[in-house]
Amino acid sequence: MPSPTPESDDPRDHGAGNAPAPAPDDSCLCGSGEVFAACCGPILAGDRDAPTAEALMRSRFSAFALGDTAHLRRSWDAAQRPSAAELEASDDGDLRWQKLRILDVDAGGPGDAEGVVEFVAIARGSEGKVRLHERSRFRRVEEAPGWVYVDGEIRG
Ligand SMILES: [Zn+2]
Repeated sequence: MPSPTPESDDPRDHGAGNAPAPAPDDSCLCGSGEVFAACCGPILAGDRDAPTAEALMRSRFSAFALGDTAHLRRSWDAAQRPSAAELEASDDGDLRWQKLRILDVDAGGPGDAEGVVEFVAIARGSEGKVRLHERSRFRRVEEAPGWVYVDGEIRG
């Protein structure tokens, strides 16, 4: 009798912590109160650019929740962007990102070149609750997805 292996080749098991993609009229993963199709959905799909730094931040939270590394990479400033392999290696598939709370927004609007978004993101994993409090810097770009993440300062 074969012994069970800890690693499964079943693609459905890949990134077991990742949420299933919401239906268009489900509430968005980022907690904005909007439906997915009117919030992060079209930004993740590349159908629409993020109009503000906060919208980009929200779409990145949804991408973390979904395990959408393609969106995470393209929404990262090219100078800081990790490779797909680095991102894959740092992905803790065990974490399920569940909640995003925006604490502060400084600039990052349609008329701004830069913006700062401070947030708390909550995840659950096998070791319990994980809380990330970060103040992130964003920069407007001409190309998709409209804004990119530059870097962040962990606040605790
Ligand atoms: Zn959203």
